[in-house]
Amino acid sequence: MEHADKILKEKEALQRKINILETRLSETNAQHKLSSEGNVSDSPLLLEFDVLKEDNILLKEDIEFFKTKLIEIAETEEGIFKLEKERALLDASLRELESRFIAAQANMMKLGPRDAWWEKVEKLEDLLETTANQVEHAAVILDHNHDLQDRLDNLEASLQAANISKFSCSLVDLLQQKVKLVEDRFQACNSEMHSQIELYEHSIVEFHDTLSKLIEESEKRSLENFTGNMPSELWSKISLLIDGWLLEKKIAYNDASMLREMVRKRDSRLREAYLSYRGTENRDVMDSFLKMALPGTSSGLHIAHIAAEMAPVAKVGGLADVISGLGKALQKKGHLVEIILPKYDCMQVDQVSNLKVLDVLVQSYFEGNMFNNKIWTGTVEGLPVYFIEPQHPAMFFSRAQYYGEHDDFKRFAYFSRAALELLYQSGKKVDIIHCHDWQTAFVAPLYWDVYANLGFNSARICFTCHNFEYQGTAPARDLAWCGLDVEHLDRPDRMRDNSHGRINAVKGAIVYSNIVTTVSPTYALEVRSEGGRGLQDTLKVHSRKFLGILNGIDTDTWNPSTDRYLKVQYNAKDLQGKAANKAALREQLNLASAYPSQPLVGCITRLVAQKGVHLIRHAIYKTAELGGQFVLLGSSPVPEIQREFEGIADHFQNNNNIRLILKYDDALSHCIYAASDMFIVPSIFEPCGLTQMIAMRYGSVPIVRKTGGLNDSVFDFDDETIPMEVRNGFTFVKADEQGLSS
Ligand code: ADP
Repeated sequence: MEHADKILKEKEALQRKINILETRLSETNAQHKLSSEGNVSDSPLLLEFDVLKEDNILLKEDIEFFKTKLIEIAETEEGIFKLEKERALLDASLRELESRFIAAQANMMKLGPRDAWWEKVEKLEDLLETTANQVEHAAVILDHNHDLQDRLDNLEASLQAANISKFSCSLVDLLQQKVKLVEDRFQACNSEMHSQIELYEHSIVEFHDTLSKLIEESEKRSLENFTGNMPSELWSKISLLIDGWLLEKKIAYNDASMLREMVRKRDSRLREAYLSYRGTENRDVMDSFLKMALPGTSSGLHIAHIAAEMAPVAKVGGLADVISGLGKALQKKGHLVEIILPKYDCMQVDQVSNLKVLDVLVQSYFEGNMFNNKIWTGTVEGLPVYFIEPQHPAMFFSRAQYYGEHDDFKRFAYFSRAALELLYQSGKKVDIIHCHDWQTAFVAPLYWDVYANLGFNSARICFTCHNFEYQGTAPARDLAWCGLDVEHLDRPDRMRDNSHGRINAVKGAIVYSNIVTTVSPTYALEVRSEGGRGLQDTLKVHSRKFLGILNGIDTDTWNPSTDRYLKVQYNAKDLQGKAANKAALREQLNLASAYPSQPLVGCITRLVAQKGVHLIRHAIYKTAELGGQFVLLGSSPVPEIQREFEGIADHFQNNNNIRLILKYDDALSHCIYAASDMFIVPSIFEPCGLTQMIAMRYGSVPIVRKTGGLNDSVFDFDDETIPMEVRNGFTFVKADEQGLSS
């Protein structure tokens, strides 16, 4: 019962709850009904509420926008602050610049000695660099300014676009004022910067003017101070000037001769006139020269070398060294020397001073036609040089190499003719025309058979054969190309080769020259037999005019105490520098350097059979075996030999005692001479050889085969038949591995 009562009570309580819920539901329904029947927008309160809500959102957005703009303005202000700081810096350096200018100008008034001059020039150069940097910097700042300007423009545009007039008027005003302020400051800064740059530009122009004045003045002074260290350069320039006027037909032949004579005598009046009119019109220099041209008597000779090489401008081997070395030596003895070379496209033009083309074309004959030649002049090693550039469709000297072309015979026959034509047309009365090797051997028969008949006959011809291995042969008819008479010359006693039907250029030069020389007395003997490569009989016939004169080296070019390629300069009395050069070369070539006294053997050569390539190879392996170091610098025109040595180079590439550098490299050659302890020249035959002489000059002991010029310049240390004081190296006779190892 009790249980039933409990259930009943619970039921009543639940019913009460249901009633309450029902009442609430009906209330809610009534409310819902009311709201769905009525229009909410009509309620003014709700409307006001919504507007407020919307305004609030807009206001919030605007506040956010202003916040960003304020950050941007702060950044811009910061940029302007930086700019102002930069401007202050620039101001300071401008003031310093001005004061240094004033000081430099004051210095100009009281010119100091030459060294001080150069110091000033160097300082000015530094200053110029600083100014250039500052201008660069200013340009960067200007760029930055442009950026800022863009940003300001954007800022203004955004402010307008914001259309915020109905809100926060004071805030907008404030912002606009700030922007205006920033804009004004920016404008001021910009125009300041512009004026600074103008000032700098102006000062740079002034710098350039002052600098060129200083350089001009200093050049003039250095020329005035010529005391004999390098007068030849000056005289060569004057000599080229005179020849140019003559070729351009601006002065008469007699005047040119007289002026040349004055050049030869180093007449100081000519020098002074040249110096004082320097930089003015050529015409003024010419007039002042002509006023001085008075007849004089000659004691020196006028010598013209016609050659295919000259060091350092166009060098393949020893011929090049001899042309410049001999030319300089003759010039020092008071002779008037000039050199005529082809204008190769591959020559080292940077080794020519004042290279310029003359305002004249020299015409020369070839293959039945006349061809124009451009004539270039310049000085090389202080010697006046003419470079002939043929205007021939075959582009004879634009082949990117000196020799080894299929038409070499044609190229050099052309050049020989054009060189003579140049001398002839310049109206010079040359005393000696000196031609060298087969490339210019054509000069001798051309001179006597063609030019002497034209009245150009003051000269005597000297022909030097630097190597009888190369003789320049061709079918007889090819001789006609340069205007030689084939029928007249294709004879056994003239130009026909002694062993085959071709014509031989070297033979022609032997027959037609007044004097024939070769480059060492021993070689002159050797070529009278087998060494003459077929020309021995011709040499015997002409033996009275044939002699061997030992070459020398140019001791200015090859001088360890002044050599600019060396790490350390040194001389025979102080060989400390040699060790430093050895260390430097080892480092450069990545050779082992643990033992400073480990001997280093050098070899610098064209790799051709004549040079004893099999002995060079043997020396490399033997040195490696004995624990020495070996450096070979050389290249070969013979592909098989080049390949063979490339193979050897590969074989030793991981060996840090052996290096083969298979190319031509003048600078490296100087370093090897200086670094080596021994120098090997195992030639099968050697007309003279210069490398053993250069090696000795650099304190490297030569090991050579006793042949040709090696026999005349290297005397064995153990040879008791020779006075001790002349012994200077080691020689061997047998051209085999045993001989070399002995
Ligand atoms: P040749 O005239 O037969 O080549 P020389 O001994 O008379 O031999 O003269 C050689 C000249 O060429 C030297 O001045 C030597 O230093 C230089 N020479 C040879 N080969 C090279 C090379 N690969 N790099 C630089 N110079 C070289």
